[in-house]
Amino acid sequence: MQQIARSVALAFNNLPRPHRVMLGSLTVLTLTVAVWRPYVYHPESVTPIVKAIELPKSEIRSLLPEASEPIDQTASDDDVDAIPQDELDEKTSSEAGVHEYVVSTGDTLSSILNQYGIDMGDISQLAAADKELRNLKIGQQISWTLTADGDLQRLTWEMSRRETRTYDRIDGGFKMSSETQQGDWVNSVMKGTVGGSFVSSARDAGLTSGEISAVIKAMQWQMDFRKLKKGDEFSVLMSREMLEGKQEQSQLLGVRLRSDGKDYYAFRAEDGKFYDRNGTGLAKGFLRFPTSKQFRVSSNFDPRRLNPVTGRVAPHKGVDFALPQGTPVLAVGDGEVVVAKRSGAAGNYVAIRHGRTYTTRYMHLRKLLVKPGQKVKRGDRIALSGNTGRSTGPHLHYEVWINQQAVNPLTAKLPRTEGLSGSDRKDYLAQVKEVLPQLKVD
Ligand SMILES: [Zn+2]
Repeated sequence: MQQIARSVALAFNNLPRPHRVMLGSLTVLTLTVAVWRPYVYHPESVTPIVKAIELPKSEIRSLLPEASEPIDQTASDDDVDAIPQDELDEKTSSEAGVHEYVVSTGDTLSSILNQYGIDMGDISQLAAADKELRNLKIGQQISWTLTADGDLQRLTWEMSRRETRTYDRIDGGFKMSSETQQGDWVNSVMKGTVGGSFVSSARDAGLTSGEISAVIKAMQWQMDFRKLKKGDEFSVLMSREMLEGKQEQSQLLGVRLRSDGKDYYAFRAEDGKFYDRNGTGLAKGFLRFPTSKQFRVSSNFDPRRLNPVTGRVAPHKGVDFALPQGTPVLAVGDGEVVVAKRSGAAGNYVAIRHGRTYTTRYMHLRKLLVKPGQKVKRGDRIALSGNTGRSTGPHLHYEVWINQQAVNPLTAKLPRTEGLSGSDRKDYLAQVKEVLPQLKVD
């Protein structure tokens, strides 16, 4: 190899000057084309016009900063099939683009927003706009929207039933505005029988889209609404705020569903979460890692990762674990397999949907052990790890999605097995006793 290089250099030096210039430029041009890996961002509807030039793996490695690390080129999920949507997703799409979060134990503004990859600079500017944002309370709801670039556009903080504060991005910071409601809260019970779909039956019973989506969220760990049958019954207690005869906002207090002769319940507690009749949490806890032991992280979650070659943003939507091929990969929570197949850049990959809020994805697998539609339990083996797809070394690429947005799997607030205790539980049970008789179905 060295000999060849030396003789090429020798021949090159012996050439007349114009030829040398010509050959030199050609070499540079050839190298440029070989090295240039076009990165094209294409939303689902647009087909890519530029095809990526495939380089030998050794060359890709030498181009990227962490050359010694197993890395994948799963730049964005444009490469990967989208999670199939269902009827409910479409019907409640009015809330698309809005991210919602209910404050729970230990949360701070920065811990909540940070897991969604929101810039720390934006978070401190928010806190500068309103110091009270440092005192979030359990059960309060915050929601936000992002710009096309993933920056924070607007944040809404529902402090209480009376007051809502909104923070809008302006030049160099955020501007706060506050709104106070003075309406009367009225309880109403709505009952119905499932005819066509739950969404249309609930609408016929008088629920709004927002209320239907609250019911679906509250019941998500017990009930797959697509599997309800004709004749199943439901009963919902809503607390609605009426202002000058108009409904301003509402809160779900309790829901009962009778499917196949069996009853399912969810009741709201003071902390804004839903529990069963005995005050036990409905969500089962998730594993933090999709493997039985913890492996080294070779590449972190980074929504702003730059492609070192093109300099463009190519988000890394998950975390990479360096692990030997054939390591069993585990489902982190109970759920349903929605994808299990071979797919381009992702290689063999599995996606699991957990309730309505969470989806997890596992890529570059060697062997799949599950099929689409299959129900899995937390800790079940779903695959063996590998090095398939666009990957330059054995590793597992693992993603966690909350409400259609990728979050940092290492810091995301994942469901924990929860329950009420002490005076919280006592208050809750007293409330259930009051609500339950109102939810009669017959
Ligand atoms: Zn990765």
